[in-house]
Amino acid sequence: MRTNLKKYQDKRNFNKTKEPIGKIEKEGKKLRFVIQHHLARRDHYDFRLEWNGTLKSWAVPKGPSFNNQDKRLSVHVEDHPLSYRNFEGIIPKGEYGGGTVMIFDEGFWEPLEDPKKGFQNGSLKFALKGKRLKGKWSLVYFKENNWLLIKEKDEYEGKIDLSKWNTSIKTDRTMEEIMKGFKKKKTSKIECIVENIEITHPEKIIYKCPKVTKLDIALYYQKVSKRMMPYLENRIVSTIRAPEGIESEQFFKKHFDNSNSGIGKKIVPTEKGHADDYYYFKNTEGLISEVQQNSFEFHIWGSQVNRINHPNMLVFDLDPDEKMSLRKIRQGVSDLKSILDDLSLTSFLKTSGGKGYHVVVPITSLKNWNSFKTFSQNIAKLMETKWPAKYTSNVRKDQRKNKIFIDWIRNAKSATSVAPYSLRLRKGAPVSMPISWKELNKIKPNEIKMKDALRRLKRKDPWEHFFDIIQ
Ligand code: ATP
Ligand code: MN
Repeated sequence: MRTNLKKYQDKRNFNKTKEPIGKIEKEGKKLRFVIQHHLARRDHYDFRLEWNGTLKSWAVPKGPSFNNQDKRLSVHVEDHPLSYRNFEGIIPKGEYGGGTVMIFDEGFWEPLEDPKKGFQNGSLKFALKGKRLKGKWSLVYFKENNWLLIKEKDEYEGKIDLSKWNTSIKTDRTMEEIMKGFKKKKTSKIECIVENIEITHPEKIIYKCPKVTKLDIALYYQKVSKRMMPYLENRIVSTIRAPEGIESEQFFKKHFDNSNSGIGKKIVPTEKGHADDYYYFKNTEGLISEVQQNSFEFHIWGSQVNRINHPNMLVFDLDPDEKMSLRKIRQGVSDLKSILDDLSLTSFLKTSGGKGYHVVVPITSLKNWNSFKTFSQNIAKLMETKWPAKYTSNVRKDQRKNKIFIDWIRNAKSATSVAPYSLRLRKGAPVSMPISWKELNKIKPNEIKMKDALRRLKRKDPWEHFFDIIQ
């Protein structure tokens, strides 16, 4: 495939369209890709891969799909200039491609086989590192200008539904908003709820070493809220209050008593015919108002309040016997992951901020508490059966000698586990921190402290796809 922008330039009148004229550029160190949703005479997606200083391009009528069975027709079209990857807007009516262009995804691609040969022979295998498109894909030539775009089997296959996104990955606008000329929405929205206005006793020392004050904690939750709220909001919480710091008295709090508008009350009938008043956060303001009330550690239910009897977040806690080596604990986590992998269940890892790790599985296919709990118990039992010397599904401490208890009991109605990004009221201000699977052997269960957690926010979110997984 030779590289040439002549066709691209000949087709367009640059006095009329805002698309770039472009030039052949030097190849970047990393190869970029872009997908543009293009609502023209026909609605389609343009899939473009950087190669030889231009963008090799295909028009994909139905757009990409994460389902391996969907082999998506991709019509090979003229090379586009690299700068085209930033084009979003309107192509005037009557001009070539007249319509609306929205940047649906962008990122890098990595060839998995010799790409030069691949372009020549009509068989490209590559990994996409986009914000929405992930994992292994292939483009296979079939006839004339027609290729097929196929999602290869991997941990994302069949798990992500692209149709749920209808906005630009760059500007957060819908097609309609682009058409109407709305300005970019993704401006940095600087929220500042926490000021000294609001927190009483901001200088109160909660952790002594290193020194962490109540205000530091409020600011911490403010800063992590963007990452944390999706896991925390609309789930019943129970919190731990420590008004005088971690070395003084602590109180569990699970009943509604805070009238802040960011906090909701949820009444849950009990089996005995009573009812419990629980509470949940509707937004960051609710969370911060609880910090104001000296709640610093947050535990959540496995279901959300609008579907209280349909849990959707499964947590396995690996509780080691005392003095067990970290190597064995990590082996336990890997063994559990291998079982979940065998069941084609995507799982996510976090530190507990204490002695162990938590493995979290987003799941909606178990439709009530009973099947949810039984399923988790069965996983724990399976581990016990497979490796009886290493694991137990029995909660009793005397059954745990030299073993790890695979705690499935938290997956019951009204049970809780610590929320991702929650601080723990333990020495050093550790956090229950989402980490990537690759980090299992590098990061200790209580290694990530409040400051480290804040630093890690600048990196890519290791749980980025948590809410995209359908299973
Ligand atoms: P570690 O790794 O040290 O075992 P962990 O988070 O796994 O930490 P614990 O902190 O001992 O374990 O918590 C045990 C259980 O008790 C969890 O299910 C947790 O949600 C629950 N729990 C802890 N604090 C509270 C609380 N304030 N209210 C309700 N449940 C709580
Ligand atoms: Mn634990």
